[in-house]
Amino acid sequence: MALEQSELDLIRDSIRKITEDFDLEYWRLKDKKKEYPWDFKDALAAGGWLGMLMPEEYGGMGLGLTEVGVVLDELGQRCGFNANSVFQYYVFPPGPVIHHGSDEMKKEFLPRLASGEEMMCFGVSEPDNGVDTSRLKTFAKKDGGRYLVNGRKVWISNALNAHRILLLTRTRPRDPERPFDGMTLFLTHLKGKKGVEINRIDKIMRNAVDSNEMVFENFEVFENEIVGEEGRGFRCLIDGLNPERIAVAQTCIGLGRGALNLAVQYSKDRIVFDRPIGKNQAVAHPLAESWIRLEAADLVTQKAARLFDEGKACGPEANAAKFLASDAAFEAADRAMQFHGGFSMSTEYHVSRFWMEARHLKIAPISQQMVLNFISDKVLGLPKSY
Ligand SMILES: Cc1cc2nc3c(=O)[nH]c(=O)nc-3n(C[C@H](O)[C@H](O)[C@H](O)COP(=O)(O)OP(=O)(O)OC[C@H]3O[C@@H](n4cnc5c(N)ncnc54)[C@H](O)[C@@H]3O)c2cc1C
Repeated sequence: MALEQSELDLIRDSIRKITEDFDLEYWRLKDKKKEYPWDFKDALAAGGWLGMLMPEEYGGMGLGLTEVGVVLDELGQRCGFNANSVFQYYVFPPGPVIHHGSDEMKKEFLPRLASGEEMMCFGVSEPDNGVDTSRLKTFAKKDGGRYLVNGRKVWISNALNAHRILLLTRTRPRDPERPFDGMTLFLTHLKGKKGVEINRIDKIMRNAVDSNEMVFENFEVFENEIVGEEGRGFRCLIDGLNPERIAVAQTCIGLGRGALNLAVQYSKDRIVFDRPIGKNQAVAHPLAESWIRLEAADLVTQKAARLFDEGKACGPEANAAKFLASDAAFEAADRAMQFHGGFSMSTEYHVSRFWMEARHLKIAPISQQMVLNFISDKVLGLPKSY
């Protein structure tokens, strides 16, 4: 169900109203104190926004990524990546459950997620295999009616507070002929469960939302917690990857515009040599160029979101959107740093947060190099290099 522009504008207005209670200073302090923004999450939940992508029959709004993009752009601009991360964990991690979960799983889980009663995390990355997911080692071994999981995950965001984890494991050793077969995806309870240790990573950005190393030792999971079929977990996960790329592109556009807004305001206010620094073309032109690049990235991102919402293939567009948007966002944030001069180094001016957040999004969840690998191989038909 595609919404009219006037309805998208209403979504933007509603989110803008929410952000009025959560300004940049609120986020600076949450980031500094490494505190999860519960009151912000509750405000999103109260408006029903956490269930935007979830089907109406499971308590969601049944909307698409086009509408989600408006929220991510607005949150990115006004709050920064901490806010987007809170919201994003309700956007793409539930995807494999929505598309491949059993009806029972969906009925039991999705309404709790949509209402904000539960939180989830997404457990894919491991310390030793990097972006080559086929080599993940966390193993779920069948033991009667249950499985026992052993292994390590890294960077798993939200795990400190999440009630459940979407956990990718191997249930068969890697077969070099079919390296992506033999993986199984579980949606399983996490909070208060034995067999898992969660250690927060001390990181340089987005500190209101935790990222963690996880160690699993005989961690119990059950057959009815399998998402899709045993051994076909990676195929189920893939359905969540294009929306993740599109959502990250939407976030980047918001972050880039947020940094640009700060830079423009500062360039109007800061007087050096008896004139605003923005009167110098050496300052004005790079800012104008960033505006243009963000608009261009936004158009590709909107195309990718529209294709996804129409149920069409969108791999090339989703990857291109992520590439263009994270580049444009980092460039805008870097220029915002430059034109804030020495004050860019003070956290009170907020630009440094946008800068580090945008830098991060050139690396994760997929690096620029891996996007180029995908386009070279899958779009241009060049020999696969990875
Ligand atoms: C803050 C944060 C939050 C995260 N949250 C989550 C989460 O919630 N859940 C989760 O599962 N993961 C999460 N991640 C992990 C994230 O998805 C990975 O860090 C990311 O995919 C990069 O993987 P890596 O660090 O292992 O890079 P590596 O695979 O070690 O790669 C290192 C560099 O080498 C390059 N490279 C490697 N191979 C090639 C090649 N063949 N060609 C060209 N370049 C290559 C890569 O592009 C990259 O630049 C998070 C990461 C961070 C930093």
